[in-house]
Amino acid sequence: MERKLAGAHLTIDLGALQENYRLLRDLAAPAECAASVKANAYGLGIERVGPALYKAGCRRFFVALPSEGITLRRLLPKAKINILHGLLPETESAYLEYGLDPVLNSLEDIRTWSVFAKECGQKLHALLHLDTGMTRLGMLEPDIRKLAADPSMLAGLEIDYVMSHLACADTPGHPLNRQQLEKLRRFRALLPAPLDTAPVSFANSAGIFLGPDYHFDMVRPGIALFGGNPRAAGPNPMKEAVRLRARILQVQDVDSQFHVGYGATFRTEKSTRIASVSVGYADGYFRALGNKAECAIRDIKVPVIGRVSMDIITIDVSKVPREDCKAGDFVDLIGGAVPLDDVAAHAGTIPYEILTALGSRYYREYLEGPG
Ligand SMILES: *Cc1c(COP(=O)(O)O)cnc(C)c1O
Repeated sequence: MERKLAGAHLTIDLGALQENYRLLRDLAAPAECAASVKANAYGLGIERVGPALYKAGCRRFFVALPSEGITLRRLLPKAKINILHGLLPETESAYLEYGLDPVLNSLEDIRTWSVFAKECGQKLHALLHLDTGMTRLGMLEPDIRKLAADPSMLAGLEIDYVMSHLACADTPGHPLNRQQLEKLRRFRALLPAPLDTAPVSFANSAGIFLGPDYHFDMVRPGIALFGGNPRAAGPNPMKEAVRLRARILQVQDVDSQFHVGYGATFRTEKSTRIASVSVGYADGYFRALGNKAECAIRDIKVPVIGRVSMDIITIDVSKVPREDCKAGDFVDLIGGAVPLDDVAAHAGTIPYEILTALGSRYYREYLEGPG
């Protein structure tokens, strides 16, 4: 799409992403640093994000689905690709064809992958997922004990890592973090040899910041790579990787007592200059941001007033010099004076949801990093 034909521009800074990768890798070293790039690299575009991370040294990638794995395989012929959702029915041959290694989440997954290994007469790689506190995916204690009682279930399988996932890592003081860590150690000791000493992966972005006890042998950050704060509170140590700007369509000067937007949820109380901006909930600019969020023009913060429409928001630009907000000028919606984490907070959600909801009408621009 041509730049001038779009109402809003999304800029993804691949250099910042690579710097974030290196920061996380150095924090977690000597553990390997993989990358979680499910959902089209958190909405930022796997075609560019995958190769940029590979260039920065990342050699292992996690995605949710085999379809995502196949897309990534075409981009990165040599990377390790792990599929978090395990084995979907009748997908084994696709995993083999594209070199995708499943995360085995259940005894059923183990059985299926082992039977397939026998059928194709070769060792098959996988990760083994233990559920230590999410109650979402992975094996609970009774199944771990069943596996321990019958290690032949693992015939034909090469388990590269035993993994688990933290529920509350963004809250360092949460007691569940320690409890999950202790459970992981105990579950691992229950596993049949040699799995009781197999390499372990535990930490997502936030888990890396819980300290070395949580790093084990491999970490798998996602959101922090993309500039989201890996901690629920406190300053964000990551570099900003995403900026969103949208064009002003029209500027109107009105007096007191004018209604703004659908539902007339805002009414001016004095003379006000209002700019209408070309972005809306159809672009992933959440409707919940109406009367809540702020944007910025040359670092001057301006509030969103009235409801977010499908394609338009209205902002109060009374305090911005007239020459800086004319039709055709740009307003910062995410990035710079408007941190991603603040936008998420104003929408009552988390940066993950803001990024994965970014729409398809933006002109997307990728800034290349030095490598
Ligand atoms: C998404 C995901 C990650 C990455 O989490 P972030 O919080 O984005 O760092 C790691 N592990 C698993 C199992 C995941 O589903």
